[in-house]
Amino acid sequence: MARNGTEVAEGVHRLTNGVSNFYLIEENGKLVLVDAGAPKDWARLTRAVTALGRRVADLDAVILTHAHSDHTGFAEQARTTAEAQVWVPAPDSDMATTGKAGPREGKATAYLLRPAFYRTLWILTLGGATKIIPVREVSTFGDGETLDVPGRPRAVHAPGHTPGSAALFFESRRTLLTGDALVTHNPLTGRLGPQIMPSGLNSDSAQALRSLDNLAGITADVLLAGHGEPWTDGVAAAVSRAKAAGTS
Ligand SMILES: [Zn+2]
Repeated sequence: MARNGTEVAEGVHRLTNGVSNFYLIEENGKLVLVDAGAPKDWARLTRAVTALGRRVADLDAVILTHAHSDHTGFAEQARTTAEAQVWVPAPDSDMATTGKAGPREGKATAYLLRPAFYRTLWILTLGGATKIIPVREVSTFGDGETLDVPGRPRAVHAPGHTPGSAALFFESRRTLLTGDALVTHNPLTGRLGPQIMPSGLNSDSAQALRSLDNLAGITADVLLAGHGEPWTDGVAAAVSRAKAAGTS
């Protein structure tokens, strides 16, 4: 069946501000979001929902893969406007509810010679993502948990980018959403292909590399990352490429 421009797997739509992706999933007339872009991406979401012939009120849940500002974005607005339940990995829940970002391993100044660094900074500043907008009420989830939201994704804990970073596996759609545990575009160096996030944005890059093993055994037709294009050559291949790429 032909898919429209944003549909990257059956009923799964990739929305992007040019730096971070978020995904709108249709399930039996209900909508679920995985991540919430930057704060100003709310308008992008409402346009996408309208294009699907649905209303913002159809949004049941927002699942955050981790609590960084380019993914928590408009989650609070979704909670208050659409009464969507916001889910966050338990170790990142303080970050999401207080807006206080955790420590990063590396320094952003290490990327000052990279044009991609300025592009990312510019887009996220315009999008209002320079800090987390606290989410006042969240539900938390842990490793291996099947979330009671439409599509019933299973959480796979893959820490290192943040302590709580998780991937979400929508088994019936053979779709794995990896958040920032495994990405296909490096927002600070511009490098393409499967890799972990750059050290300047990770809490623990060595742990992030080890966590790739938690994803390797999953069979999915499409891997959808927090940054970059969809990957359709299998999860195991993506994991081995990311390990080979190492840290940045
Ligand atoms: Zn990110």
